[in-house]
Amino acid sequence: MKEILVIGAGAAGIMAALAAAEAGARVYLFEKNDIVGKKMGITGKGRCNLTNSCSMADFIAHTPGHGKFLYSAYEQFTNQDLLDKLHTWGLATKEERGGRIFPQSDSAIEVRKLFYRKLCQKGVDLHLSDAVHAVKAWGSRMVVSAASGNYESDACIITTGGMSYPVTGSTGDGYGFARSLGHSVTELKPSLIPFTTEETWPHTLSGLSLRNVEASLWKRGKKAASHFGEMLFTHFGVSGPIILMLSTEAAHKKSCAFPMQLRIDLKPALSKEKLDARLRRDFEKYIR
Ligand SMILES: Cc1cc2nc3c(=O)[nH]c(=O)nc-3n(C[C@H](O)[C@H](O)[C@H](O)COP(=O)(O)OP(=O)(O)OC[C@H]3O[C@@H](n4cnc5c(N)ncnc54)[C@H](O)[C@@H]3O)c2cc1C
Repeated sequence: MKEILVIGAGAAGIMAALAAAEAGARVYLFEKNDIVGKKMGITGKGRCNLTNSCSMADFIAHTPGHGKFLYSAYEQFTNQDLLDKLHTWGLATKEERGGRIFPQSDSAIEVRKLFYRKLCQKGVDLHLSDAVHAVKAWGSRMVVSAASGNYESDACIITTGGMSYPVTGSTGDGYGFARSLGHSVTELKPSLIPFTTEETWPHTLSGLSLRNVEASLWKRGKKAASHFGEMLFTHFGVSGPIILMLSTEAAHKKSCAFPMQLRIDLKPALSKEKLDARLRRDFEKYIR
């Protein structure tokens, strides 16, 4: 029987461990936290946006950078495959605006608990509160050094996540493991993040949320990227869906890399003339 070591029990590690166990391997899953899927429990504002009903081509188009590398993975496991699996396991789901799919219960914790039950049912050997600190290749065998001791296996899957929300356990350990095994790690860039503004006046508007506005990034007098929709002011700058989308472009597109200027058009659907006419009309109407 093949032995597989999986490091990190987030969404990726849990799915990898379950797939390996279903294929007949003996699986050991190491997690530094005392529960599996800690980050999963806070996703989708506590509701866990499981997937989207859009086409695989749309998933790739919306992936920042070079989404095409996901073609083969998506060909083997689609959004529908995930839903079929979750439904078979007894999780009811619902579709909301924009094709977003959530558990019927609106509870990310329910999803986390379901995955935990499945890991137990499939006989995955769970090592909770057992942080891994080194991974080595020993001929054709892999050796993992964890807090509880050294473990040998036929293969090792590193699913330690990125570096966002380190309080959930994702502190970027996997990059070091991959480097120590001879892999190259590309430059790390933040994505889907709010902006801190140099000016302090936006902080005074903290809590104000705007709809149907256009936010755009400008560099050397040129518009480099723009999005239309919702945004909000925070105590440090700006956030909300269109700002998060712009942050991804700022991280990946040279044409709008930091430092850049952010402009907000509060009435993007109106021409200057129409806006001027509307303001004049409002002044006349409310002058008394
Ligand atoms: C606030 C927020 C909301 C989000 N909402 C959604 C959403 O609604 N829908 C969605 O699809 N995505 C959402 N995401 C993104 C999603 O959470 C991540 O894409 C996903 O968690 C990545 O899964 P992962 O398994 O790769 O990594 P992680 O979930 O980060 O899991 C990695 C695991 O590895 C463990 N680990 C790390 N190092 C070690 C070590 N040395 N030894 C042992 N264990 C280790 C960590 O403790 C962690 O449990 C959200 C992210 C955030 C921050």
